[in-house]
Amino acid sequence: MTEAIKALYCFDFDGTLVSPVHDYQSDPVFFEWLKKTDASPEKVWVINTGRDFPYLLEGLEQAKFPVLPRFVICRERDIYELNEHGEYEPHQDWNEQCEYHINCTIREGAALIKRFKAFLKTNTKAEWLEFPGDPAGVKASSDEEMDEIIEWVDQQMHLVPALDYQRNSIWMRFGDHRYQKGSSLKHVASLLNVSPAQTLVAGDGDNDLSLFDSSVAHHIVAPANANYQVQQAVAKKEGYLAKARFALGTLEGVLATLDNE
Ligand SMILES: [Mg+2]
Repeated sequence: MTEAIKALYCFDFDGTLVSPVHDYQSDPVFFEWLKKTDASPEKVWVINTGRDFPYLLEGLEQAKFPVLPRFVICRERDIYELNEHGEYEPHQDWNEQCEYHINCTIREGAALIKRFKAFLKTNTKAEWLEFPGDPAGVKASSDEEMDEIIEWVDQQMHLVPALDYQRNSIWMRFGDHRYQKGSSLKHVASLLNVSPAQTLVAGDGDNDLSLFDSSVAHHIVAPANANYQVQQAVAKKEGYLAKARFALGTLEGVLATLDNE
């Protein structure tokens, strides 16, 4: 019989727990809180990131995380759970369902994507990215260039209603509107039988916006380095915008909102 979970903490990784301006390191004060939280059977913490699984493991090792999250959500959708041997196991059914639906939706959007690739080639220096399981992505040469790319995409998206995208600074990937950080976390919360009132989310970038919804979490936190869209969303949702940056800002928000001992 597992203990009832009283608090679920969901953190974005880059910019929220580790700092890209400090060699992707985190913070010892945050690590102390994390160790304490991890030791409590009533609390679960999750990393929810745009990184793929190997790249996230590399990041956790690089930043020397003292404990590992019970769940990781990679590419905003793939769910892995830590087993009793300290190894991650994929939630195969969910992950395969996501991949199947995403591939169907990308096929449905093939004509739009073809025009999009032509737009990229003619108007930008952006790179088209295509990997197994990640069939339609872009790396722009700058944030400003990605702003222009997103503007084009936003004007066209209505043509394929099932199609969606996730943006993270100079990166974006097309996907299916049913799978983003918010819906993936909801799936994890349903497995744990945790309500939005018991859930805290923290993020700093565009792909975190789907987490900032009352159907996902009632506690919303952003570190001071969060981008403009995130800061606006936090203000609108009456979340907590920290004064501190990166992991310390995230911790500041956690302590101010959902750290009931
Ligand atoms: Mg981030």
